[in-house]
Amino acid sequence: MSSMLPAVFVSHGSPTLPFDDVPARDFLRGLGAQLGTPKAILVASAHWDTPSPALNAVPRNTTIHDFYGFPKPLYELRYDAPGAPALAGRAAALLTGAGLHAVVDAARGLDHGAWVPLMLMYPGADIPTLQLSVQSSFGAAHHIALGRALAPLRDEGVLILGSGGFVHNLRAIDWNGGAEPDWSRTFAKWMHEKIAARDEPELAAYRSRAPYAAQAHPTEEHLMPLFVAYGAGGAAERLHSSATFGSLRMDAYSFA
Ligand code: ZN
Repeated sequence: MSSMLPAVFVSHGSPTLPFDDVPARDFLRGLGAQLGTPKAILVASAHWDTPSPALNAVPRNTTIHDFYGFPKPLYELRYDAPGAPALAGRAAALLTGAGLHAVVDAARGLDHGAWVPLMLMYPGADIPTLQLSVQSSFGAAHHIALGRALAPLRDEGVLILGSGGFVHNLRAIDWNGGAEPDWSRTFAKWMHEKIAARDEPELAAYRSRAPYAAQAHPTEEHLMPLFVAYGAGGAAERLHSSATFGSLRMDAYSFA
């Protein structure tokens, strides 16, 4: 078991992360070497939010620049990693077998929720990669179930990676980089305690139980990838903790 890759959650932050000199970028730059090279990567990204679980199945991914108004060099970054169409079919079968009807999307590439962290973790863009969508209106328990259904893929050398944001309130972002507000710290502390204790009932009910949940996540899509990684793994370890732009928290966890 110990040789198995953990499931991992990372916060991808701003699309500018590859150009930002912040601790979270340096952490992600070291994370690929820390984890080792998987056979394939399945990324649950906050930026693909669909009515039912979807997996992309393409021979080679395109790079989706799904953000607006950022500096031009960002639109020139590419991460056209090979796809993993056979694995998409296998993952869809695992989900459907668990009662989570999944569909395969034969056109979509990688959005920035996937390629921003992967570009830092595995800059060679040579590992077969596919995405899983989130269903933000279905809540935490649904995403824990998605992760749990996909956990067998870890035995096959697949890195299950959730990419979202530990605290993600775009209206509260301070582009001048002010101090982190108390509500963000308080929410993050509660989440960390429940994750470390693997207190699943509390985590599944975070929306009503966690302090400042709706302020930390006005919409839920950026936290859902955390629950996918949580469901796919076991004992939690915090790999990184920091905040950028005030409240945009960059915390990362592994689930062994
Ligand atoms: Zn995002």
